[in-house]
Amino acid sequence: MKAFKRFAKEKRAARLENVKKPFPKKHEVLIQVSHCGICGSDLHAWLNHKGYESVLSKVTFGHELSGTIVEVGDEVKKWKQGQAVVMIALQTKHETEDFFCKSGLPQLSHRRRVQGLHLDGGMAEFVCIDQEFILAVPENLSMELAALTEPLSVAEHCIENRTSIKEKDRVIVSGPGIIGILCAISARARGAEVLITGTEKDEGIRLTTARKLGFQTRTVGSNLPPLSDQLNTEFSDGADALIEASGAPSALAESWRSVRPNGVVTAVALYSRNLDFNMTPFVRKQIDLRTSYASASPDYIRAFKLLSEGKVNPKDLISTYPLENAEEGFKDSENLKVMKAMLICKD
Ligand SMILES: [Zn+2]
Repeated sequence: MKAFKRFAKEKRAARLENVKKPFPKKHEVLIQVSHCGICGSDLHAWLNHKGYESVLSKVTFGHELSGTIVEVGDEVKKWKQGQAVVMIALQTKHETEDFFCKSGLPQLSHRRRVQGLHLDGGMAEFVCIDQEFILAVPENLSMELAALTEPLSVAEHCIENRTSIKEKDRVIVSGPGIIGILCAISARARGAEVLITGTEKDEGIRLTTARKLGFQTRTVGSNLPPLSDQLNTEFSDGADALIEASGAPSALAESWRSVRPNGVVTAVALYSRNLDFNMTPFVRKQIDLRTSYASASPDYIRAFKLLSEGKVNPKDLISTYPLENAEEGFKDSENLKVMKAMLICKD
């Protein structure tokens, strides 16, 4: 079968290979992959960036997949052939005594692994997945939209569990990448008024998409007035919450200026550079500074609900590529030409 596989711990060292079709172990299911999104973390791993040293040198990428069960292992009782499923990307084998399993945050356990970085993932025609880490796709959902469940679950975890956003709240999302846009969609679904910020390089596709989706936007950068000076009366007292999804250290450092006293700032991005910033203004405004990482199955279930309700229009966000053209999808993602590149893995 065909698979888009990394072959060395080097920059852009991945190619389409012909590999042996996997065979499910007794607790696994074999999935025929339909769609598989290219995630920011796939891109970082492909570019061999700092912070991604744990990614195997030989591995099939892909954790944002939807597909159909074609075979089940001997001990699999819960699943059967023909069911449409998505994969849970961050995988921690359930252990009743594990503190993080008990807390409903298995993604924070040191035992976690990411399928598609630490074992073969879904940028292939077939993939084997442990029965514990799949979820059934609701009937009305297309396979294309279903492949957006994982990134949307990351946004859902951030908005539902790591902010206090409620109806009529004013929310700023800093960074119009796919996670930022999905956070904005999650916040709006809760009745919040959302404004999205980006830099001039985001004007090409990302901020245009944000506006097309009905969000107000502001462009920020070193040659432009600070965001706090660009806010209209609605936001001029400061936002109730700010989601930092850009990964730019300065955006986090300056976030206190655009948030009201006793507001919340949540960082959902990863930062490739160290932050050097003054904490005092955050303390004086008593701003709650939080982080949010990945997601767990309840977040996927809420993501399914938003997708089923039509809150996400795939045409605005997804650009598809056949599996054979995976490299082009990675290049377009790197060059910010697309919001979400998605591979079609099934002929
Ligand atoms: Zn992802």
